[in-house]
Amino acid sequence: MAYGLSIARGLIVTFKHIFKPPITVNFPEETRQVPVRARTNLLWFEERCTGCSTCAQACPDGCILVQTSPREDGTLNIDRYEIDFRICMYCGLCTEACPYQAIQAGGRYDDAVYVFENMYRNRESLTREAKTYMAKTDGRYPNGQTQELSPTRTEMPTAKSRIPGAGVDGPFGPQHLHSRAEHHQH
Ligand code: SF4
Ligand code: SF4
Repeated sequence: MAYGLSIARGLIVTFKHIFKPPITVNFPEETRQVPVRARTNLLWFEERCTGCSTCAQACPDGCILVQTSPREDGTLNIDRYEIDFRICMYCGLCTEACPYQAIQAGGRYDDAVYVFENMYRNRESLTREAKTYMAKTDGRYPNGQTQELSPTRTEMPTAKSRIPGAGVDGPFGPQHLHSRAEHHQH
């Protein structure tokens, strides 16, 4: 008797689901909207990046490479910016660490590759991804902010703009700050 009851219960569950609409989508013709906070591929926006390397320092896997050289005005020239997605675990720590939200989650997820090495993205490849994304969203970053018509390196406070506030006359930039040892001498 108990055996028959279990079968009946199982069939009830089956019948309930027969009449429910399917939850699958016809990918790739249809795609689901990715939730805003999903930890998808990373997007790097050069126009927001100051080259501070905070993202690289925050990454537990060491998959971000930032190479910079100083400019005359104290800001940094970004010579290289690369992400090795072969070892990235999509933890999002880099996105949380970036003071300028220049690296954000929100990239596409249909990026399977045939050649493993192609998961290493250099600056050109990252910029291409970012531009494609921005073209699709009409200039809106994943965090909801919109791109300025003529994006400056950043209009947000940077190392350069903070230093005059601290009462130091130029040349500006973190590399021109007094070292701790120099402070003790004064
Ligand atoms: S998501 Fe995590 S592992 Fe990937 S680059 Fe950012 S900090 Fe590194
Ligand atoms: S932390 Fe942000 S601003 Fe600094 S180098 Fe990384 S992406 Fe650029």
